[in-house]
Amino acid sequence: MHDYPALIGALHAQGIHSLLAQFTDIHGVAKGKLVPVANLKEWVEVGAGFAGPSIWGTGLPRFGPRSEYYGRIIPETIRPLPFMPGVAHAVCDGYADGVPLETCSRQLLLKAVERLRSRGWTMWVGIEPEFFLLNKRNGRWVIADDGDQLSKPSYDLKSIHRNAAYLDDMRQTLVSLGFELQQIDHEDATGQYEVNYRFDDALAAADRFMLFKIAAHAVAERHGMVFSGMPKPLAHAPGSGLHFHVSITNAQGEAVFSSEQDTLGLSPLGHQFAAGLLAHADALSAICAPTVNSYKRLASSASASGTTWSPVWKSYGNNNRTCLVRTVAGRLEWRLPDPSCNVYAAIAATLLAGLDGIDKALVPPEPCDVDLYAKAASGAALPPALPRTLIDALDCLANDTFLAEALGHGFVEQFLAVKRQEWSEFHQAVSDWELNRYADAY
Ligand code: GLU
Ligand code: MG
Ligand code: MG
Repeated sequence: MHDYPALIGALHAQGIHSLLAQFTDIHGVAKGKLVPVANLKEWVEVGAGFAGPSIWGTGLPRFGPRSEYYGRIIPETIRPLPFMPGVAHAVCDGYADGVPLETCSRQLLLKAVERLRSRGWTMWVGIEPEFFLLNKRNGRWVIADDGDQLSKPSYDLKSIHRNAAYLDDMRQTLVSLGFELQQIDHEDATGQYEVNYRFDDALAAADRFMLFKIAAHAVAERHGMVFSGMPKPLAHAPGSGLHFHVSITNAQGEAVFSSEQDTLGLSPLGHQFAAGLLAHADALSAICAPTVNSYKRLASSASASGTTWSPVWKSYGNNNRTCLVRTVAGRLEWRLPDPSCNVYAAIAATLLAGLDGIDKALVPPEPCDVDLYAKAASGAALPPALPRTLIDALDCLANDTFLAEALGHGFVEQFLAVKRQEWSEFHQAVSDWELNRYADAY
């Protein structure tokens, strides 16, 4: 199998003494611990041990053989961390009592990818992280760079100039972590950015996004700011999405979704995959947009700059950014996910829903070739809307028997329990809005 002495020797030669054994909890948050490189064989074959019930959503008991969560390091993922000298990052898969853990989201994606591989297919995902740079002043969250309150902040250059040191640090860090950068730009809201890098196969894309978040948090902190993947930090500005550009190739490396003859650039299989996404969109919302705050992003209310560019209605259209699925150059841009998702679960669910569309030869609705925001403003009839709140989306997931079966009941039960608790805490809190509206009104 692995030549451990050679691997350890190579790491020591680079000055690496520790590995950051990292796994992802059910919320999509990176967790882990530092372990010595010298014991690599143990971390790979047995795993680094963690108290199972202390981790969100494992479903593991407080005692007995299954109470320990073992994060088994995947040696191919080991990468020196430029912001932690002497430490290399290593991705882990979750195990308990010697078997893959059904509530580990990476195991879930592995299983989904396996289904695809049995057809000789590979899924490619380009992930587009949008985020804000925030600060906390006098106990309140504020935009770190609020220098300009522009009505259309997209592609703002002054903000790029002001944040040049941070952006260059991000660039250097990502490049040294093996990212192939494509662009960095200022997004549609003041203090909002987007970083684009090359697509990967589904599993590598999820691993890479986790590494992106870890690096982005560390670099922002070094510059006195907070990286925020919160979907909608500002009520009257666009939120942050995490679009997935999805395509599939067959064993011959040919693009399965693309066809030059079609007006949307899609093959019949591409249309069916899109139909699967639209058919399961309500349940997918729970996985791809899994926080209370996600549903404030998925709303049509216009921002100061005119629109939020976030999906609201179940629709697909040719290069149409007002749709849930935008087709572009023979691939699908899936605009539902936001950065608060568990990226492994979100990619797995997207893949499984799309495959269901193919297996059942589902027929999508008519493609949409209008501006849906303008249509909404005019009062015209619209395609059916996505769920409006987290609790609605969770109920849809609970009722989507195909997706619950395909993702695995163990994972879905834990996910629903954790997220219903999150909803209930939100629902019980009394907000400033309620006090201002009701306190002296009645
Ligand atoms: N920020 C938008 C969203 O929430 C997307 C903007 C864009 O298309 O880049 O999905
Ligand atoms: Mg964008
Ligand atoms: Mg996009």
